[in-house]
Amino acid sequence: MSRNESSSKERAVDAARERIRSNRFGENNVGDIAKGIVDGQREDLAMAITLIESERPSDRPVAQLLLEEIKNISEAKGNRDETVRIGITGIPGVGKSTFIERLGLDLIKEGHRVAVLAVDPSSKRTGGSILGDKTRMDELAVQENAFVRPSPASDALGGVARATMEAVILCEAAGYDRIIVETVGVGQSETAVRDMVDVFCLLLIGGAGDEVQGIKRGIVEMADLIVVHKSDGDNIDTCSTTAQSYSNALHLFPTPPSGEKVEVLTASSLDGTGHSQIREQIKSLTTVWKSNGWWSTQRSNQSSDRMTTHARELLLTQKMNDPKSAQYWHELQNEVVKGTISAFSAAWDWINSEKDM
Ligand code: GDP
Repeated sequence: MSRNESSSKERAVDAARERIRSNRFGENNVGDIAKGIVDGQREDLAMAITLIESERPSDRPVAQLLLEEIKNISEAKGNRDETVRIGITGIPGVGKSTFIERLGLDLIKEGHRVAVLAVDPSSKRTGGSILGDKTRMDELAVQENAFVRPSPASDALGGVARATMEAVILCEAAGYDRIIVETVGVGQSETAVRDMVDVFCLLLIGGAGDEVQGIKRGIVEMADLIVVHKSDGDNIDTCSTTAQSYSNALHLFPTPPSGEKVEVLTASSLDGTGHSQIREQIKSLTTVWKSNGWWSTQRSNQSSDRMTTHARELLLTQKMNDPKSAQYWHELQNEVVKGTISAFSAAWDWINSEKDM
């Protein structure tokens, strides 16, 4: 990098820092920040993600403006949508972080820029969040072509999922073309991640039965690719047997909506075994789906479902933000708890209460 380039980069970084210090986004600097993101300024990207994660109602209109601005700039630049969104799930301890770090580093070697995001509704930033823990993915996190972001701190899945999806869009605008979204594999977080990625990958441990692994049938049905992980040392044979039995069992499952057979592979993220086959399989699914139309169908379905989910949440939040409405909610809730009114009637009364107030 020439001295000139480096000093202009430093100036841009200083300017971004200054915006962070001066706090806040306002409607007047949204354009600059959007431009900074598209130009690849990490500080701007990180700050923008903080904004979209914010649960303060006053931050929402600015976040909305920022997302619009990003869309306009990206379209004006003629950015083609060549990104691949990969979801990774599996129980805690199956090795998701280790797997993602290896996958991320390999993708970077292939020339990609990799962003890692997470949906973990139970995490708290200060309490050792799934990706917030500094010891995790430390090799990936320091790469120039990687961006690793801890899960937003919230225990409401809806909010975390929305923020993560918006972060996906921001990362793509910032030039990250491989987006990996991790889920902790509890509650409904897998469904949330399934609904925002192109390829959903389930990690399993060799030898343990479904029940031990806390695997629900529904999760297996959501997967596009299954990996029996930690296939190294004494574990190799066990992992192959497990992979084989999953592969056989999958014949009993309905064909996935993509129409594509679900491959069961074995891998080790310690020694890298199986990782090139996994990357090949992801590439192959991408190519097939782009040619048979499933790729765009799935993305359109996801967008349309997001609109419904988001509108539902907005309506509820909007109504709850009205003090009278919120008070009426609590009154009705007391009645429901006492058993004097059914939950359905209470919901109906509340939804229709505007007219009476
Ligand atoms: P997570 O909770 O699913 O994110 O799992 P981690 O990535 O934190 O890994 C849990 C443990 O499994 C750690 O001690 C890792 O070193 C170990 N581990 C991860 N991947 C592998 C692997 O491929 N082989 C073996 N033998 N151990 C692994």
